[in-house]
Amino acid sequence: MASYDHVNWFRVPTIFEGDCLRFSLETTATHAWFAYFEPYSRGRHDWLIEQALTKAGTELLATGKSVEGRDIQLLRKGTGAEGRRKVWIIAQQHPGEHMAEWFMEGVIERLEKHDDPVLQKLLASADLYLVPNMNPDGAFHGHLRTNAMGQDLNRAWQSASQELSPEVLFVQQQMKQYGVDLFLDIHGDEEIPYVFTAGCEGNPGYTPRIEKLEEHFRSHLKHLTKDFQTKHGYTRDLPGKANMTLACNSVGEKFDCLSLTLEMPFKDNNDAPNALTGWSGKRSKQLGKDVLTTVADMVDSLR
Ligand SMILES: [Zn+2]
Repeated sequence: MASYDHVNWFRVPTIFEGDCLRFSLETTATHAWFAYFEPYSRGRHDWLIEQALTKAGTELLATGKSVEGRDIQLLRKGTGAEGRRKVWIIAQQHPGEHMAEWFMEGVIERLEKHDDPVLQKLLASADLYLVPNMNPDGAFHGHLRTNAMGQDLNRAWQSASQELSPEVLFVQQQMKQYGVDLFLDIHGDEEIPYVFTAGCEGNPGYTPRIEKLEEHFRSHLKHLTKDFQTKHGYTRDLPGKANMTLACNSVGEKFDCLSLTLEMPFKDNNDAPNALTGWSGKRSKQLGKDVLTTVADMVDSLR
């Protein structure tokens, strides 16, 4: 992707010559930026947290620290009173997958609306627990998948440690304290040109109840937007063969709840392609808003 102003990003065609990715652009300005995907800067992250606290009515429930001491904010929308459903959404375990924080911006922007009946229905019985960026060190260092210690956080959920993966340890401790009734882990996939989810079908504790909830989520979101589909995705795990080091499987097993990894494309959604922008920050934001509609539809059946 390229941009002249860091605001409007457009696609630049690329070709492979051997192992070398080649692209060219006839520029219309003196400066141009190039990126793998529309970036989500730390400056924008700070602004987003500010918006969440001042306009979206969330509170800063806790702040974790990355390996290098950067803040990891856990926001909560809702009172935390007993009996309310606890909906967790985390993003950017993989720091290069910036579509994930654009998605979170969509979620937070929707929370700023005070005349949204669907949102009101959701918030009548659920609290939202949001971690907009799990891996600030990785982004700072320009890593695609790892934190400052070289750890892939989404393979650390059985072995999180203060030394190697305090980012995961922080979120796990908070989940233990508050509980989880629904978990969404937001990502970007480099290969598959569609939006899709991966579930817990390979977990030892997988039950028909969880299977039904997964189907409910997917079919509702599919009918809501052409930017979600259920045909393309990862190969399903065989029963009992899940990789339990993944956040989705680990949380789903521990809390016996609906738990999904949501993947957006780096390139485009081939069901609704946009030649100018491909998949974009704007589309990621809209998906974040749409997912709240789906969560609202199923919030009363989570337990
Ligand atoms: Zn990822």
